[in-house]
Amino acid sequence: MTHILVTGGAGYIGSHACKALAAAGYTPITYDNLSTGWQDAVKFGPFEQGDLTDRARLDQVFAAYQPVAVMHFAALSQVGESMQNPGLYWHNNVAGSLSLMQAAVAAGCLDLVFSSTCATYGDQDNVVLDETCAQFPINAYGASKRAIEDMLRDFEGAYGLRHVIFRYFNVAGADPEAQVGEFHQPETHLIPLILDAIDGKRDALTIFGTDYDTPDGTCVRDYVHVCDLVDAHVLGLNWLENGKESRVFNLGTGTGFSVREVTDQSAAVTNRAVPIVEGPRRPGDCTRLVSGSTRAVAELGWKPTRSTLPQMIGDAWRWHQTGHYDK
Ligand code: UDP
Repeated sequence: MTHILVTGGAGYIGSHACKALAAAGYTPITYDNLSTGWQDAVKFGPFEQGDLTDRARLDQVFAAYQPVAVMHFAALSQVGESMQNPGLYWHNNVAGSLSLMQAAVAAGCLDLVFSSTCATYGDQDNVVLDETCAQFPINAYGASKRAIEDMLRDFEGAYGLRHVIFRYFNVAGADPEAQVGEFHQPETHLIPLILDAIDGKRDALTIFGTDYDTPDGTCVRDYVHVCDLVDAHVLGLNWLENGKESRVFNLGTGTGFSVREVTDQSAAVTNRAVPIVEGPRRPGDCTRLVSGSTRAVAELGWKPTRSTLPQMIGDAWRWHQTGHYDK
């Protein structure tokens, strides 16, 4: 069996990636400290509990499974939290990734697929956000991811660690078979919060800022379905297996939706009202983040099939209604 080490495999995106890897004939080995992930989301291969900063534990897992590649999802990913506690982000994301990359190199595992973010671009109005765009993150989360991208380039130069970097826009939706889905504790992401407000799990959805320079005053984001996103990761893995050069790919659809458009669509898809409260801006939020790139489509052959807003909300709603984590 071909083993792939999946850090963060118990989390939202990592668990979907494990499903996609298993479907493609790989055995995903989940390495996760369960700080934000869930052991019962590990359904498609072995589970190894461990922290990225625990080098001895990483060495042990590399030796036990001899993975041919790493998919690195494990990270803290909340913009707001990163502004309040940046040290956490530099320690967990940056120092953790350094430890992982050193362990991978020591084990001779020299292909790595990395989950980066459009937050590395920062707030750049009127700039097309393609992969050549300069990166000026405005929050510690984005800064931590940009630092890891830099480390990857240095590690390739020195040790031959080849990589595909995916800069995600806003990931949404869930496995259509509802085996895995999105669940964060506490939840901070827009669509799950809207669904919680719709079915009374919280009083209302607070819109963070209505005075942005956008058509309806709320922030604009490019939403991509988690299943389409993880399909791109399998293609990224194949890219490295085929000996192609290290490459950066944006993963977004190129279409932006405002927070209000997402709440309106959620009401339409679920046929339920969304209780809304208007609040102040959230520190660290960019006005507009929309991908201006088709590189993943052109070069990887990526074909997103589920990334329409109704489909993403519908799949998230189906997962939400399974009540998986209502414990
Ligand atoms: N958002 C909001 N209320 C919330 C959570 C998010 O208005 O309770 C907005 C947020 O300001 C951003 C968008 O929804 O413009 C997406 O936020 P999310 O946290 O889901 O993802 P991010 O863009 O931070 O990665």
